[in-house]
Amino acid sequence: MTQPSQFTQRHLLGIQGLAPQEISALLDLSDQYVDKNRSADRKMNSLRGKTVINLFFENSTRTRTSFELAGKRLGADVINMQASASSVAKGETLIDTAMTLNAMHIDVLVVRHPDSGAVQLLSEKVNCAVINGGDGAHEHPTQALLDALTIRRRKGHLDGLMVAICGDVLHSRVARSNIHLLNTMGAQVRVVAPRTLLPAQADRLGVEVFHDMRQGLVGVDIVMMLRVQHERMRGNFIPSIREYFHFFGLDYEKLALAKPDALIMHPGPMNRGVEIDSDLADDVERSVIREQVEMGVAVRMACLDVLTANLARNKI
Ligand code: ASP
Repeated sequence: MTQPSQFTQRHLLGIQGLAPQEISALLDLSDQYVDKNRSADRKMNSLRGKTVINLFFENSTRTRTSFELAGKRLGADVINMQASASSVAKGETLIDTAMTLNAMHIDVLVVRHPDSGAVQLLSEKVNCAVINGGDGAHEHPTQALLDALTIRRRKGHLDGLMVAICGDVLHSRVARSNIHLLNTMGAQVRVVAPRTLLPAQADRLGVEVFHDMRQGLVGVDIVMMLRVQHERMRGNFIPSIREYFHFFGLDYEKLALAKPDALIMHPGPMNRGVEIDSDLADDVERSVIREQVEMGVAVRMACLDVLTANLARNKI
């Protein structure tokens, strides 16, 4: 694969602060991996001898599996560590855990943690490359990259598109990373949410804010739905599921307000009948939710590829 020279970062901790050419470089490389993954000859050995550890302090299906698959497709040794089954459950601190893994000469640590900023802190203590697999409500960079790849392959570009990000923006690292990426790449972003599920001063994020989904969806190219993150809520943020779906759930009627070729996205896991109508989620004419999962593997291969190459270059 052609290695991009534009991405020289040591870690991938977030989208905020990345330059457009760095994002494009990762997407271009990911595109090559999509083609490779669709071919019969998809197993490579460019990361043979490298070790990737997935250190997850929160549940995950897509992110953990696709990092594992990405590492294995490239020939790396991949180890999955679930915090609940590690010494963290015995009281070991995050830093001690990271230092222990670091001492084993690993190359990449993929970390998911419930606290915003925890992955950055850890990256300052280790010699390996660190990828943020999602930290609290802060960032989930590989999700935003895979979303951008999905959109770019379908629409041919990101600039000038109108994207509505809808639902539980307050608790969503996916929303934050996507807002940074889409703004950086010249798309226009709307957030659509009840007041209780928006961060204070959401307009400072460089987005247009809507509290009425019927207004927020008018003329958009992309409708990106977010999961209602019950596990991060202390108290009641929505009156009832029925009422939430009525006002903020995506159904065919509300979707009709978007452009006729508007695409539907969701990072998963979905709450069917809460933020999205179940039939619509499965409608292959409109929904690219499964494609997002496919793009996830390619994006994670690109990230592992680039970061291990950067690490090797810096060691010389
Ligand atoms: N899977 C995504 C995340 O980890 C979205 C979600 O959980 O709703 O942030």
